[in-house]
Amino acid sequence: MRSQNFVDNKPLIYLVSTPIGNLSEFSPRAIEVISDCDLIACEDTRNTAKLLSFFNISKPLVSLREHNEVSESLNIIEQINSRGIKVVYVSDAGYPCISDPGAKLVELALQNGINVSTVSGPNAALNALVASGLPCDHFYFHGFLDPKNKVQKDELRKLSTKEETLIFYEAPHRIMDALENMYEILGDRKACLARELTKKFEEFIRLPLSEMVQLDPNTLKGEMVVIVEGKTKEDNPTLTDEEIIKMVNDVIATGVSTKDAIKKVSELTKINKNQIWIILDINYLLLTKM
Ligand code: SAM
Repeated sequence: MRSQNFVDNKPLIYLVSTPIGNLSEFSPRAIEVISDCDLIACEDTRNTAKLLSFFNISKPLVSLREHNEVSESLNIIEQINSRGIKVVYVSDAGYPCISDPGAKLVELALQNGINVSTVSGPNAALNALVASGLPCDHFYFHGFLDPKNKVQKDELRKLSTKEETLIFYEAPHRIMDALENMYEILGDRKACLARELTKKFEEFIRLPLSEMVQLDPNTLKGEMVVIVEGKTKEDNPTLTDEEIIKMVNDVIATGVSTKDAIKKVSELTKINKNQIWIILDINYLLLTKM
């Protein structure tokens, strides 16, 4: 399906990015589009009311968040189609849909013949990435890791083979556990913790994960993004998966457990233990699927 937002005379919902800290980042175009709309659907009406009052804008607000996203989206779509009202969607900060509600509204709007456009603005992940000093040509946005330790470690194991720079959102009360899991599973990679972006106490902490885990948790307050280097090709360029598996099997043949064999091979090759487990797992899966 092709649709031209400003040529076709179809109804349109705007997704408007809002400031992640510094209110001056609310653009003139965002103010113009919001001032011209009939209804603002938002994640939290109290938050959006505060933002609007700062810019002296008064508009009807309706809450559209995770728990009512489908029913309220359908309600809004019905009003657009029956009364032709102009609707804007904003989340609490940054882009809607990015670790925030909005994606269901977009999906349902498109299914119901309503176009979707955007008003550009801040996004914590991109602000952190571009100033991190880590490669920006290819990156993978993961957002929040699962708070449950075991699930989080499984997520990190899956991410450990990605060569793209990794982007995580994290809450201050979970940051130390997350950094420790990253160090354990991803190894000692370069990283950058970007805190309080665009605000008075904005800080970039650019350290390897081995040093990041030594930081005083009391100094890691506020909102934060963690950027971690992707898997580097130099991890061990001379060894193939087959050679690593053979080394592990050779050590097991001397009478030690798989766990100890992996530890030994990790010491010899400087390849992270978890990485070796993943190589064994992947190859085991491939063999059992054949
Ligand atoms: N939609 C937002 C965006 O486009 O960036 C993200 C919303 S998500 C619910 C909130 C998370 O984004 C925070 O927990 C933090 O990880 C990150 N974040 C938001 N504002 C930030 C800021 N000013 N500095 C650092 N991280 C921020």
